[in-house]
Amino acid sequence: MSAALKTDWHDQARRLDYRNQAFIDGRYVPAAGGKTFDCVSPATGQVLTKVAACESEDVDRAVASARKAFESGVWSRMAPRDRKRVLQRFAQLILDHATELALLETLDMGKPIRDSSSIDIPLSARCIAYYAEAIDKVYDQVAPTADNALALVLREPLGVIAAVVPWNFPLMMACWKLGPALATGNSVVLKPAEQSPLTALRVAELAVEAGLPAGVLNVVPGFGETAGQALGRHMDVDMVTFTGSTEVGKYFMKYSGESNLKRVSLECGGKTPHIVMPDAENLDRIAAEAAGGIFFNQGEVCNAGSRLLVHESIKDEFVAKVAAYAPELQPGDPLDPTTKLGALVERRHMERVLGYIDRGRSEGARLVVGGERVRQETGGYYVPPTIFADVTPGMTIAREEIFGPVLSAIPFKDLDDAIRIANDSIYGLGAALWTRDITTAHRAARRIRAGILYVNTYDSDDITTPFGGFKQSGFGRDKSLHALDKYTDLKTVWIGL
Ligand code: NDP
Repeated sequence: MSAALKTDWHDQARRLDYRNQAFIDGRYVPAAGGKTFDCVSPATGQVLTKVAACESEDVDRAVASARKAFESGVWSRMAPRDRKRVLQRFAQLILDHATELALLETLDMGKPIRDSSSIDIPLSARCIAYYAEAIDKVYDQVAPTADNALALVLREPLGVIAAVVPWNFPLMMACWKLGPALATGNSVVLKPAEQSPLTALRVAELAVEAGLPAGVLNVVPGFGETAGQALGRHMDVDMVTFTGSTEVGKYFMKYSGESNLKRVSLECGGKTPHIVMPDAENLDRIAAEAAGGIFFNQGEVCNAGSRLLVHESIKDEFVAKVAAYAPELQPGDPLDPTTKLGALVERRHMERVLGYIDRGRSEGARLVVGGERVRQETGGYYVPPTIFADVTPGMTIAREEIFGPVLSAIPFKDLDDAIRIANDSIYGLGAALWTRDITTAHRAARRIRAGILYVNTYDSDDITTPFGGFKQSGFGRDKSLHALDKYTDLKTVWIGL
């Protein structure tokens, strides 16, 4: 992308075309009931476009199309090397349309254009490419049985997958599901969050352009209670793969139990403890990581380091170092390439975040920086970096997932105390620890209950590593070759010899 293109985001945004209908059976269609909902820009509060509000009739059509495509074998029985080529083209088309997709993502959910263009879109393409490249290198097994038989252990696609995704990384979360689900031969019905449907709708068309047969990927924008629930309860959906809140994750378990026992994979919330031991080296660098760990993407990140556990001997010094990043992280226009913190996704969510800030104040935490809505004159939903010190583990802001730019600093006495506080949560997605002592690092790694532990780093990421949590952060893993397992079933075939 040229520098000229990069700096001219507003101009390009004005010329964008929005895909705003459902994508079913390879083409855009209005919702059967003719309903639409407003797709609102969080940066201004203005309506960008009206999007089809899919309901159960649309979900039925999408699932029928996905089922028909699956049973026809046009994709599910295609040779893996041919699926690979289609998905590689799909990844390339995402890159070819990176400017348009980055703009759609930023306009739709308020994240800075510097992040959507340098992180969300390239990593989405990389994810699709990774599974494309992997799929013709995965072998089935022959069991070590006696000589009078041959037992094959085969992996087969599940069938129709419903992917229900959130608004914080709309395209990337969709691709974490689409990559392994499509590579293994499944058909997919994707429901983007109602706050952020635009990139999902656009890439469905790119997938078909890449050669994905009609019906293999359908997109049904709409509300969780209608479209999401219809997918969760559908008798012909084989699996729901979900990212979002723990509360809604539990609904999907219920829907499954009350319908066809479809498989469910859940990547839910977190309350990541970010532990700084007194022996940690280079507090300045760690403060930068701690600030990035909570304020990146406006704090709307499931593994945001929202609980800063600092040893009592360095707590004031360290919290001051983190707070020093607040001025450069003041929220700005998401389309300005220098902006590092954008708008929160919607008014309701901003009010929820401000409600938690009020709760922090009223429960006795000390507000160090931030705490009030800013840029109100724009009509957008902006909350600045907000840090509370002297937080105790029982306070609401130490326990509940805020999903905004709010950091709760909690002092601890020693490693045991830190691990006890870290594990005192319903969540177990991520955790981080800074120490120079290798024994401390290994002890903590064994005892902290989390799916991902960062030692002397934060939020390191690569498509090759599994992502997902313990406890009520869910189960099943996105990313890496492990994700292929959840979109397939094992079949054992005995052949008598
Ligand atoms: P939700 O869990 O409410 O939404 C995630 C997805 O589920 C969306 O597509 C949503 O649709 C859908 N959904 C919502 N309600 C239902 C339902 N009753 N039945 C079926 N599907 C449903 O997350 P939110 O977007 O509202 O965010 C709220 C909180 O969730 C955040 O504050 C954060 O705590 C957590 N979250 C965690 C994420 C993570 O990555 N782990 C990502 C996003 C949120 P729709 O939005 O259209 O209603």
